[in-house]
Amino acid sequence: MIEIDGAAGEGGGQILRTALALSMCTGQPFTLTRIRAGRAKPGLMRQHLTCVNAAAEVCSADVHGAELNAQSLSFTPGQVRAGDYHFNVGTAGSCTLVLQTVWPALLMAEAPSRLKLGGGTHNPMAPPFHFLARSYAPLMRRLGANAELNLRRLGFYPAGGGEIEVTIWPAEETLRPFDLNDRGARLEGYAECFAPALPRSVARRELEHLGEALGWSGDQLREAPTRQHEGPGNALLVTLAYENLTEVFTEFGEKGVSAEKVAHNLMRQVRAHQLSDAACGPHLTDQWALPLALAVWKRRREASYTCTALTPHAKTNFEVIERFLPVKFSTVPSGNGWRVSAKFA
Ligand code: ATP
Repeated sequence: MIEIDGAAGEGGGQILRTALALSMCTGQPFTLTRIRAGRAKPGLMRQHLTCVNAAAEVCSADVHGAELNAQSLSFTPGQVRAGDYHFNVGTAGSCTLVLQTVWPALLMAEAPSRLKLGGGTHNPMAPPFHFLARSYAPLMRRLGANAELNLRRLGFYPAGGGEIEVTIWPAEETLRPFDLNDRGARLEGYAECFAPALPRSVARRELEHLGEALGWSGDQLREAPTRQHEGPGNALLVTLAYENLTEVFTEFGEKGVSAEKVAHNLMRQVRAHQLSDAACGPHLTDQWALPLALAVWKRRREASYTCTALTPHAKTNFEVIERFLPVKFSTVPSGNGWRVSAKFA
């Protein structure tokens, strides 16, 4: 039984999701104590509980302590089964995080799985759908793990109601680790504003300010189409497509925060990325560690990636992954960033 302290390092929900994902992939049971002790409201929130229940359903796990606000949990996985699954957070909690919890296990299954996920699709502090679709999923494909993601309906805090459909194909035999040390030349850069159920002037002003700050115009500034019954909500996104990967940066508008401020904050994220020539931005850095480690473990190899920043999320994730897999992470400064290596040990 692997014992994990949920207060360690970053002390957030990612410790739980990584433990669930790798417990399912490796068949090793775990206990987690002091769940999300580093957060103002510790314990299992609705989104985390949905992750636990989704993981349990996918592998018929024996779970103790899966209740709202629970501070500890034990999880004993069974056999992972491919299938048609429907997971609904039931609030605006992020359904993309639920997807990332079960994705690694389902790519280890013997047949394709189809998932319908409900909840928030664009949440602060979680990967927005477009980040997963444009940045994460293409890298997964390059790793040998094919998946198709479709956004059916946008979901924002507080109404939720978003929906994503995903197909995940088996990949245990095709997983191949690769180095991602160079982002390559920039192919394209554009901004989009999703602002369903808000006056169109909100999107226009945010895009205008962002365009001025980045020197972008015309087709680089896009008012994204939205559907009826979506929102209200407001996400401003920048997508930077390079030869070797695509990065997506996001800021959220909210009442009382000016369009100029939202655009300014996003411009700062983009500028920080442009100041370095490392491959991965801060969010991809913590999220890429798990799938890469899986491929490194399966093929008994070593692989590396460069990143613009080493966040507490990333360092904590490396530590949790090392508890489940015979993989060692190491980091060295590299150029204007860091190089992360994952080695079969
Ligand atoms: P908690 O409520 O405990 O903070 P959580 O369950 O929301 O936790 P975290 O542990 O904070 O989760 O992890 C959030 C995850 O979402 C991290 O992998 C982080 O990189 C990712 N993330 C946050 N914001 C973005 C973003 N703008 N783009 C892509 N990924 C993001």
